[in-house]
Formats: sequence, structure tokens, C-alpha cells
Amino acid sequence: MAHQWRGVLREYADRLDISDATPIITLGEGGTPLIPAPALSARTGANVWVKYEGMNPTGSFKDRGMTMAVSKAVEHGAKAVICASTGNTSAAAAAYASHAGIKAAVLVPEGKIAMGKLAQAIAHNAELLQIRGNFDDCLEIARDLAAHYPVHLVNSVNNDRIEGQKTAAFEVVEVLGDAPDIHIVPIGNAGNYTAYSRGYGESLARGDSTKHPRMFGFQAEGSAPIVHGKIVRNPETIASAIRIGNPASWALALTARELTNGYFGAISDTHILEAYRILSAEVGIFVEPASAISVAGLLERAAAGQIPKGSTVVLTVTGHGLKDPQWALKTADGSTITPTVVENNTDEVAGVLGLAKVSV
Ligand SMILES: *Cc1c(COP(=O)(O)O)cnc(C)c1O
Repeated sequence: MAHQWRGVLREYADRLDISDATPIITLGEGGTPLIPAPALSARTGANVWVKYEGMNPTGSFKDRGMTMAVSKAVEHGAKAVICASTGNTSAAAAAYASHAGIKAAVLVPEGKIAMGKLAQAIAHNAELLQIRGNFDDCLEIARDLAAHYPVHLVNSVNNDRIEGQKTAAFEVVEVLGDAPDIHIVPIGNAGNYTAYSRGYGESLARGDSTKHPRMFGFQAEGSAPIVHGKIVRNPETIASAIRIGNPASWALALTARELTNGYFGAISDTHILEAYRILSAEVGIFVEPASAISVAGLLERAAAGQIPKGSTVVLTVTGHGLKDPQWALKTADGSTITPTVVENNTDEVAGVLGLAKVSV
């Protein structure tokens, strides 16, 4: 009989702070595929795997943290949750809150979130407000509201989010039979970097793995506060999910890097889009631009001679490509691709496809 994955709270109940009093608000998140990427292995000489978090219910890893955060919020009697978001947190908060039968209010930077994510928050009945400011401004207001009004904050400054997200590391260890040598993630608020590091640490402590992977995290060049060691007032990148100038988990990420002999690097938007194309065209995995920075980071480190041949490397790709598909339709010079239109005729189509007729 087919076994249905039960969501991360039930699957990892023994490793999370939940009890019989915790209502399990789940949409079946987690259990995402870890996919071998032969094209990336060939390019780097490493053994490369992709953890495809776009396969979560709302299309990003945020669901792992949101199942935990909303379940704990409801356990504590919350009737409404609030978050600031570059898009995916709002989609997840809206979906889990609607499932729980409570309200979600989400604050997003005006004009700066992808259409698919905006549609999700609205579809799931969130109260969505566009703030005339950037993500960091939205988070400040959300924290303020949670401190002074009856709303429960579900940004990753809420430790329940990190706890839920650490389960992705457990899944990687289970599939590989050990931790990888290197794990690469995109960095926005650095919550996920922190979560993986915690998850791998716990796996090691339990004896499920023999090592802690080196944690590599990448930020976009125009939005790289951790890499450069200072707040970016007006972060800019096409990778909207990581357009964050003052990461909430900055200090935790520095500790995690220290602990894992990790690395932080910055990647240009051009290289992000190149990697985005490589992943979709050569590996068959479609992600949003922010996710592709993991691939770009791998290629950059490999070119720098920093990825040992034969080592096992896992890349987390954080969100689904359908959330923000416009980038797939752009060429390197910025023009938009429009598919060729052909007459309703087989020979015409064969001609355009460059097919020569087979004689029978
Ligand atoms: C939230 C998000 C990130 C950044 O994760 P942090 O935990 O904020 O560092 C990266 N990619 C996508 C698609 C996201 O939604």
C-alpha cells in the first residue's frame, strides 16, 4: 500500500518541541526529492545533488517552518499571524493560516514581490498590504505589531520556523546515509542557513551521520550584507526572495559558519541567471532566481578550486520556478523570447524543426 508522507511535524515528532497539546497544522510539507545532478557533477567533478524545495505545498521551503510556527501559534491560542515577506513567507503563512482557520496579515515591499507569490497570498485569503519600503522596513513593522497587538509573528525570528526548517537536513542524511561534505544554500535572512546547520548538528549528535557538512551560503552582489559585514540600506537584485539588507539571523549564521568551517560569497545577477538557465536546461529543475544562486555558488567555488573532486555536495534550491517565470523568457541581452508561430501544416512544422523526412 502506498505510504503517504505525513508532513514534517509527524515524521519528526521526536525531534521537535511538540506534544499531544499541539494541533498539527499540515499540508504535507517536506519529504522533498533529493535529485542527483549529473550535469553539475560533470561540470565540477563533485558528486552533486539538488534538494528541490519547490516541491513543497506552496512551492518553497517556507512551508517546513510555517507548519511548525502556525501549529505552535494555534497551540498558544493565536487567532491571527503576521509576517513580513519577500513573497514566499506570505504565501506559506496565508496557506497554513487558512488551513488552521485563523487570519494571516502579510506585509510586503511595494512592487517588489513576484506575481505568483502575490497571487498565492491573495488566493489563500490573507490580508496583504504593500508597504512603501523594503523588506527590512516590513519586518520592523511586523515585529512592532506583534509586540503591541494581538498577532503572532511567524517570521524566521520566531525560532519555531528554524525548528521546522531543520528537518530538511534530516531528510538529506536519511537519503545519502550520511551528511554531505558541503551543503550550499541561498541567504536572505539566513534563517535557512541556520536551520540546516542545526539539523546537521542534531543528526551528528544522534549518530545518524559521521560529520557536519561545510555550510556555504550565497547572497546576491547588490544585497550581500553578511559577505561584506555591513547593512545594505537599499538592497538590489533580481533575486527578489533574497533582497534583504539586514538579515534577521545574521549573528546565528556567523556562528554556524564558524562551527562548520563554512563560507559566505556574493554572486552577480548575471551569474545567477546563467545558473538558473543551466539548472533548468541541463538538469531539468525549474526554480526561481534566488534558488539558482546555490548553483551559481557551486560553479564559482569549483572554478576557484574550492570544491574537492569526488566530494558530495548538496544544493538546496529553495523555491519553484513557476512563482516568478518571467526570467525564463528573457535572453542574456534582455530581450523577451516569443515562440515561433507556424502554419497549421506538418511539413511546415517539420521544416521549422529542421527535420528531414524518413523514407519508408
Ligand atoms: C526565503 C527564501 C530564501 C532565503 O532564505 P532565508 O532563510 O531568508 O535566508 C531563499 N530563496 C527563497 C526562494 C526563499 O523563499
